[in-house]
Amino acid sequence: MKPRIGITVGDPAGIGPEIAVCAALSPEVRAVCDPVLFGPRALLERVFPLVKGRVAPGSALGDLRLRPDLDGWGKLAVPFGAVSADSGRISYACLQSAVTAVLAHEIDAIATAPINKESLKAAGVSQVGHTEILASLVGLPENAGLTMFDTLGLRVFFFTRHVSLKKAVSLIKRDELLAFFRRCSRALGLLGVRGSMAVAGLNPHCGEHGLFGGEEGREIEPAVALARAEGIDVEGPVGADSVFHLAKEGRFAAVLSLYHDQGHIACKTLDFLRTVSLTLDLPFLRCSVDHGTAFDIAGTGAADPTSMVQAVLAAARYSSVPR
Ligand SMILES: [Zn+2]
Repeated sequence: MKPRIGITVGDPAGIGPEIAVCAALSPEVRAVCDPVLFGPRALLERVFPLVKGRVAPGSALGDLRLRPDLDGWGKLAVPFGAVSADSGRISYACLQSAVTAVLAHEIDAIATAPINKESLKAAGVSQVGHTEILASLVGLPENAGLTMFDTLGLRVFFFTRHVSLKKAVSLIKRDELLAFFRRCSRALGLLGVRGSMAVAGLNPHCGEHGLFGGEEGREIEPAVALARAEGIDVEGPVGADSVFHLAKEGRFAAVLSLYHDQGHIACKTLDFLRTVSLTLDLPFLRCSVDHGTAFDIAGTGAADPTSMVQAVLAAARYSSVPR
């Protein structure tokens, strides 16, 4: 049986519904999974005329599988391109419905279109983004999710994300790294990925034995040694200028990047539109585009659905792994 992938439409004032419909009607997507859209019917109907030319010829609205529990939200007037409490409420309701469905095993994984943080705030949602909302919906702490990027099979985890570079460097400590290695190793195992993980160096040439930077010798190498003693397949640190290339060539199953831009630059330079963000360590798999709501082009039919399609394909691929 093909995996059933729930696609949440995101903020209805943005490009989310348009790219969600494109993805759900993409022949590539339908070949590997059964897509189910989580969005109010009226708001999907309004974007349907925009998707022609980007979906299989002859596609009809009736080809989409929708969730009737969200249809009531379609009565709200949500103009394209504007922040509003109503569009925040709708994005939240779609996520809630998808989480309920995935926990009830009615779908196998979730792929999310972009939401607007300001609209969510206007709707009174206290969590700042998808990962925090999803964690709170299943009763976990807001920071429970573990992010992994997948760009054409290059997999990257992030030891730190939205902190300053200075702060990120100060957070590189042996015991925290060890805990992170354990988490990444377990997450990869659940995704059915085998092979060794490589931790990227922090300093140029991994500090050249302390000539320019001591974090490698002081924190990273001891953490790797401890992890290996536990049987965790992690290597490094490997110079950050070559580790991503080596992983792309298949030498490593994943790269453990130490700060936000280190991993982002590698993935997004390799292929910006095919960079998919996975949230792991939740009771279900969630894959996401890594772009925003693009309010400036919402409602014009100019949105590129490539990222959304890739997110759904990744959800299908990784949720097909027997657990
Ligand atoms: Zn970021």
